[in-house]
Amino acid sequence: MSEKNQGSKLEALVSLCKRRGFIFQASEIYGGLNGFWDYGPLGAELKRNIKDAWWRTMVRERDDVVGLDSAIIQHPRTWEASGHLEGFTDPMVDCRACKKRYRADQLCEELGLKLEFETGSNAEKKLKLPDGAKCPACGSKDITAPRAFNLMFKTFVGPQEDTSTVAYLRPETAQGIFAQYNNVLACSRQKVPFGIAQIGKAFRNEINPRNYTFRSREFEQMELEFFVKPGTDAEWHEYWVAERLQWYQRIGLPEGRLHRYVYGKDELAHYASACVDVLYDFPFGTQELEGIAARGDFDLGRHQQFSGKSMEYFDQDTKEKFVPHVVEPSAGTDRIALALLCEAFHEEWVPTSDVAGSQPIPVDYAQPMPPGCETRTVLRFAPCIAPIKVAVFPLLKNKPELVSKARGLYDALRKRWSAFWDVAGAIGRRYRRQDEAGTPFGITVDFQTLADDTVTLRARDSMQQIRLPIADVAAKLAEAIET
Ligand code: ATP
Repeated sequence: MSEKNQGSKLEALVSLCKRRGFIFQASEIYGGLNGFWDYGPLGAELKRNIKDAWWRTMVRERDDVVGLDSAIIQHPRTWEASGHLEGFTDPMVDCRACKKRYRADQLCEELGLKLEFETGSNAEKKLKLPDGAKCPACGSKDITAPRAFNLMFKTFVGPQEDTSTVAYLRPETAQGIFAQYNNVLACSRQKVPFGIAQIGKAFRNEINPRNYTFRSREFEQMELEFFVKPGTDAEWHEYWVAERLQWYQRIGLPEGRLHRYVYGKDELAHYASACVDVLYDFPFGTQELEGIAARGDFDLGRHQQFSGKSMEYFDQDTKEKFVPHVVEPSAGTDRIALALLCEAFHEEWVPTSDVAGSQPIPVDYAQPMPPGCETRTVLRFAPCIAPIKVAVFPLLKNKPELVSKARGLYDALRKRWSAFWDVAGAIGRRYRRQDEAGTPFGITVDFQTLADDTVTLRARDSMQQIRLPIADVAAKLAEAIET
């Protein structure tokens, strides 16, 4: 069986995402803006479902986590305390010949080289391009030395634009959580260990946005700061790595394409005791979806130091006082959406007429299509993640009794789930349109429905159809969507 090459798979997916309204280039009518994306009707539902699934698992279904929604713009001291003002930089290089700009580490990776440190006194932290580095675009070796570029977007608060009014768009949601740690602790009656979760936009002025939405300049994060007693960091870190891997499988990313990258001691930030990245096999390589770090008391400690407000916790049981340590699972919604789209995307050969009982065959790109078949594109989303859960079709649009019966069912279903109404074209075409949108179920109301109140329920993946009473439809769907 010959598979589609990964580059053309991504190309086909990008085109589907635009055509069906998952993802558009932001400001497309003005030529687009590099690193910014808009989500269309299906994409908006998909992202909402990812965030809902995360919030449900991380907040609603737990006793020890509460939510927060903090401001995107925080006091600039926040970013001094967090270390972002000084250290949230990427090494940037320019090709002097063709003027292309690169992130030095990405350039080296692309060339199969390793970024080096300069030798000599006071040079331990100065990066240097290795011999052999050249511009991938024009081949020139005339490339500038790496220089640090701060990724935070700057703005001004109020009408005056000077150094006293500079503020930053947050590069992560986490710092809003640390800054509100005392208030949340006071109002929520939580006890350590407990967590604060937040979903929201983050902004990074990435040097080189690439790989579709994977590295964007505006994106969404889903972050949990889980506060623990010093000394229990390792066990909580292990717990959260396992929890998060399970969650990814529940939303439809298979274990075989998920990986963990365990940081070596020499790769960890000086304050961290452990870090594991969750990676997924994207068509452009195995890349990070989420980082899970045990960050010690660095964050609360720094805010205590910079704000002068105590972040100490008093343990009523042991009468001890300590600054809690933190374990942070930090995920990107957009990267998860992209991983789910890549995972869901399939091309299959199916009989031209979508007859009941026909079986889809994965396309073999080395073989001609079998006679009597056509290619269907299908997004095999897990039902809990699918943008539309169910589509309802009256068999014929010019039979008012069919239309009104179907409309009644549609109105009932859409109170509970995102549903789609389609009366246009042959029923097979309508199924195909929903296959492309990733809708797991299609319901057809036909003449038999008028006689016995039963409908046809068609499953997207198997294309199997069953007949069932209208009264049983909601329970049948709930079984698949809500478990
Ligand atoms: P990378 O090494 O890929 O730049 P990171 O390690 O800097 O990522 P974190 O600071 O740990 O990322 O952010 C947590 C999560 O936020 C990442 O795992 C990712 O899912 C998401 N994220 C970070 N930067 C971006 C970006 N530029 N575009 C989309 N998502 C991002």
